Amino acid sequence: MNTIGHLINGELITDTERTQDVFNPATGLAEKQVALASKQTVEQAIAAAQAAFPEWRNTPAIKRARVMFRFKELLEQNADTICQLIGQEHGKISHDAAGELQRGIENVEYACGAPELLKGEHSRNVGPNIDSWSEFQPLGVVAGITPFNFPAMVPMWMFPLAIVCGNCFILKPSERDPSSTLYIAQLLKEAGLPDGVMNVVNGDKEAVDVLLTDERIQAVSFVGSTPIAEHIYATASANGKRCQALGGAKNHAIVMPDADIDNAVNQLVGAAFGSSGERCMALSVAVAVGDEAGDALVEKMTEAMKGLSVGAYDNASNDFGPVITKAHQEKVVGYINSAEYQGAKIVVDGREPNVAGYPQGFFVGATLMDNVTPEMHSYQAEIFGPVLQVVRVKTMDEAMQLINDHEYGNGTCIFTRDGEAARYFSDHIQVGMVGINVPLPVPVAYHSFGGWKRSLFGDLHAYGPDGVRFYTKRKTITQRWPSSGVREGVSFAFPS
Ligand code: NAD
Repeated sequence: MNTIGHLINGELITDTERTQDVFNPATGLAEKQVALASKQTVEQAIAAAQAAFPEWRNTPAIKRARVMFRFKELLEQNADTICQLIGQEHGKISHDAAGELQRGIENVEYACGAPELLKGEHSRNVGPNIDSWSEFQPLGVVAGITPFNFPAMVPMWMFPLAIVCGNCFILKPSERDPSSTLYIAQLLKEAGLPDGVMNVVNGDKEAVDVLLTDERIQAVSFVGSTPIAEHIYATASANGKRCQALGGAKNHAIVMPDADIDNAVNQLVGAAFGSSGERCMALSVAVAVGDEAGDALVEKMTEAMKGLSVGAYDNASNDFGPVITKAHQEKVVGYINSAEYQGAKIVVDGREPNVAGYPQGFFVGATLMDNVTPEMHSYQAEIFGPVLQVVRVKTMDEAMQLINDHEYGNGTCIFTRDGEAARYFSDHIQVGMVGINVPLPVPVAYHSFGGWKRSLFGDLHAYGPDGVRFYTKRKTITQRWPSSGVREGVSFAFPS
């Protein structure tokens, strides 16, 4: 069986002392294995990155950016292979994988602007013959730890920017679908990146623990579930590292009585069930304001869901694929069962989908639940499956209160024709990324991505301008070249 290894100092390495099965979630079969890095293997990667740092740090930003230009071309040339690897291990349909890859490429394009992004700030004559400037210097060796649900895009939120800022990188991808990530990292070498600047260690907690505690690692970017994000942030910070840890979500869409309901339904179908709901920006709760909106929403959603097809990644006519593991399939079904037990109405039931030819696949069909209430376990938790829950409220304020009371604050959306309501919503909602008639308001690469509340631990959001700040240290230099012959006396006053 093929064993997926690590990329260290430009070489593919496989330590096979500990391995884990990698499944094709459509067939339900373990088709590959991934090596789980030992402490020694991770330390080898850190040493390689540290050795590569002095030269890479001194490489002009425009030359670092040139590597990214070539990398972008290679990503585009090899898109089919990358999407196939994503499909085989994650299960998402090829058109969805292509969308993920495109959003990743946009982060590479942003990183190509490194000379401009790193220009710094300059002030002449802040005092007599004194100039002052701020520059942004790389941190050194930095690490990224990424989740299974975007094996191509989320790593590219991190390493392109970190690398063009002059850092060396260690990536620990998800052990559930590591192949596309490793393949992408290999393209960097082909693009001309010096060995050691980008390293990939596959593995689990054992590898992560080294990255969180080794004093040679200066900063850690994490994306994954909230309990792990909280642990990563606490441990990395306690070990003196800069850390940004993005966690889970429960994204609500408010459907106002004046919304264009047909448009809202079309948007909701894609945003709730696309990628099997395994997106941190998936809309998993629709809050209908007023019973008229609620009834229309449920009726039209039910109709729209009739044509949905769940199946394997390589049939482009499928709308979405399986969930990631058998255990996750059982968990999602468990949430539907518990909601039903607690009084929710299962309007469309996806618990037993019939996917011809894939009897052991980890499939869950699109599910719609009505009359969900905030006390329900399924409402409080992040289900991360193709399940849309409808909560009915009487007023917009009530709808906003629900969202503001929820522990997560990643994304949200309002469907309305009322500009005043939309403006009030975006102003007062306690969520980091807000859509107005836009269901998945994922910021483009030249803005930054991040939630509020327990969806993000740390101060800076991912990629974009915040990414540049995260991967650099500001240094401010104040310089005087006195005119020859001028001698100043001693002064004990604070310089002004
Ligand atoms: P996860 O938290 O299980 O794993 C994420 C990473 O952490 C993986 O690399 C994994 O190997 C590592 N990890 C897992 N357990 C660990 C432990 N005990 N100690 C150290 N490292 C550990 O998340 P997942 O299931 O791969 O991904 C889904 C989650 O990620 C969802 O909660 C989703 O909302 C979230 N997510 C958030 C964003 C965001 O931007 N906020 C984006 C994508 C996914």
